[in-house]
Amino acid sequence: MIYINNLHHAFAIGKKGEEQTVPVLKGVTLEVRQGEIAAILGKSGSGKSTLLNILAGFMAPESGTVTVNKHETSALNESQMAAFRLENFGFVFQNFQLMPGLTAFENIELPLKIKGIENEERKAAVRGLMASVGLTEVAGHYPNELSGGQQQRVSIARALITKPPVILADEPTGSLDSETEQEILELIRSLNRDLGITFVIITHDDEVAGIAHRQYRLRDGELMKGEKRHAV
Ligand code: ATP
Ligand code: MG
Repeated sequence: MIYINNLHHAFAIGKKGEEQTVPVLKGVTLEVRQGEIAAILGKSGSGKSTLLNILAGFMAPESGTVTVNKHETSALNESQMAAFRLENFGFVFQNFQLMPGLTAFENIELPLKIKGIENEERKAAVRGLMASVGLTEVAGHYPNELSGGQQQRVSIARALITKPPVILADEPTGSLDSETEQEILELIRSLNRDLGITFVIITHDDEVAGIAHRQYRLRDGELMKGEKRHAV
């Protein structure tokens, strides 16, 4: 479902006029199949977030193509990409990125508001999803009234509420203690197993990568294929 083909990307770094071009991705090719959890490992600065940002269409690559669900997304303009992103991708980040002025319920509801879903349908969908990820009791809490694990549950529910086929997660357990990490990994695993959601997870943690069907490692701008871990 996701094909990344021969992606190259470099950044210009330093003062204007004295910039140095630093290549970060040097011909990255990757296929993620529908229903798979793919983990991309790599040291800090190896280009993991850059790869995810290009996959999500937040950045255009220098060269190479990205194809998602048979659409060549790297050929879309910004507004086409924004619409495509809303339909196809949910996002989960290390620092949750919840809206501090909205309750847990309202954070999860927000993408449906943006999509223009009518009030009653929206509320019912949020209530149902909150129950299924174990958040009903904290629906009225603001993000600063939630634990890290609860905040990440809210952010996962927010990513899921529009029913995207793919969730892109950048260090989803990077801010959590190991017990909470296990809970979030179990949630990701069950969403993959029960709903067939495809995950691309960026991590530098082997334990997180352990839930993946396939592992890849970014090193010196190239993606090394890990062994297949589990059958889908
Ligand atoms: P981490 O594990 O620390 O999050 P990462 O693997 O996600 O690291 P990236 O954020 O993709 O790494 O960065 C890869 C390289 O590209 C780094 O050397 C970084 O300094 C550089 N880089 C990233 N974004 C930019 C930018 N907007 N402008 C210039 N250089 C950048
Ligand atoms: Mg990163």
